[in-house]
Amino acid sequence: MSYLAKNYNRKKLSFVKGKGSYLFTSNGSKYLDFVQGIAVNSLGHAHPKLIKTINKQSKKLWHVSNAFQIPEGELLAKKIAKKTFADYVMFQNSGAEATEAAIKTARRYFFSKGKPNKNRILCIKNSFHGRTIAAIYASGSKKMTEGFGPKVPGFDHIQFKDFEPRFPNLKNKITKNTAAIMVETIMGEGGIKPIPNQCLKYLRKICNQKKVLLILDEVQCGIGRTGDFFAFEESKVKPDIVPIAKGIGGGFPIGAVLMTKKVASGMTPGTHGSTFGGNPLAMKIGNTVMDIVSKKVFLNKIKKNSQYFHKKLNKLKDTYPKIIKEIRGRGFLIGLKLQKDQTKFIEKLMNNKLLTIRAAENVVRVLPPLNVKKSEIDQAVKIINKVCKEY
Ligand SMILES: *Cc1c(COP(=O)(O)O)cnc(C)c1O
Repeated sequence: MSYLAKNYNRKKLSFVKGKGSYLFTSNGSKYLDFVQGIAVNSLGHAHPKLIKTINKQSKKLWHVSNAFQIPEGELLAKKIAKKTFADYVMFQNSGAEATEAAIKTARRYFFSKGKPNKNRILCIKNSFHGRTIAAIYASGSKKMTEGFGPKVPGFDHIQFKDFEPRFPNLKNKITKNTAAIMVETIMGEGGIKPIPNQCLKYLRKICNQKKVLLILDEVQCGIGRTGDFFAFEESKVKPDIVPIAKGIGGGFPIGAVLMTKKVASGMTPGTHGSTFGGNPLAMKIGNTVMDIVSKKVFLNKIKKNSQYFHKKLNKLKDTYPKIIKEIRGRGFLIGLKLQKDQTKFIEKLMNNKLLTIRAAENVVRVLPPLNVKKSEIDQAVKIINKVCKEY
């Protein structure tokens, strides 16, 4: 008998310990964890530097209200601003909280400019921005919104397929009331679908033309996941607002909204708050993750190792074209798009001690820790090969 609500479809598997890329069950079984809490444990399990940080800070100070100065948060915001497009950072606790705060920031900006009706957000149909009441309507997904009405107004949608180089339908969807376009740079839950660089560039251009803000949701694809600190960097596009979460806490719940100075002008004292957001313990941990992940050598290694992984996976795709249709994604945000439903494949990988997770469109999502070893990549490839062979 479980007293937990039944809102998850859980595997019959639990763990007592984690170390690096591995998880261990109570009977000592060892699993190669290429889920990592869905791109959350960016440095793997029980990273020694994170343990040290948490041990040290836990003896000093965990939580104080945002009514006071929090130097640990000041420092993390500074580090993020120095490394990215952002001028200001607003800390939260999760991805959904960050995407909603991003929407609030966009709306508030136009409100502060005397345009309160410029408040609509244009999103991609069946995207993913979290599970809170506004975020599900931002996604426009039937599966996520069904039974949770009334519909939250203020969101318009375009289809991903409209993200062809010239966006035939995009221009008509932008009205004088559109405040922002919000998209995931790489759609994660939606099946590991990157928005091509030339499309991102075009989005920026059209946002400038129509005086609309560009929100790039990097909750899953950001913080080094692609080998760049942000996935959008490759396109050279500069967004106005970027919600982040997942990877920045290395397993500790942290979210944040990054914004330019221009946009930040609307977020005056009292306009937004979060009780837990940005507390000293979270911020200390965020600092440690940031110090490691933002280093050029660390990012370059992600690029090198992930290219190696992609190459191996593409070889498997060529060997088993009847099973694997396509290798998607960038860096360590990888999708194996199968020809058919992926449920059984994921189960077989699990039986062979490799943990992966599903995404839409028959995709097996593969999310190793960013510091995964080459030998662990080899081990994963071997297991995927074995499962393909037996399939
Ligand atoms: C996971 C995710 C979210 C929501 O994050 P939570 O922490 O689960 O609220 C939002 N946007 C994207 C792109 C995500 O992948």
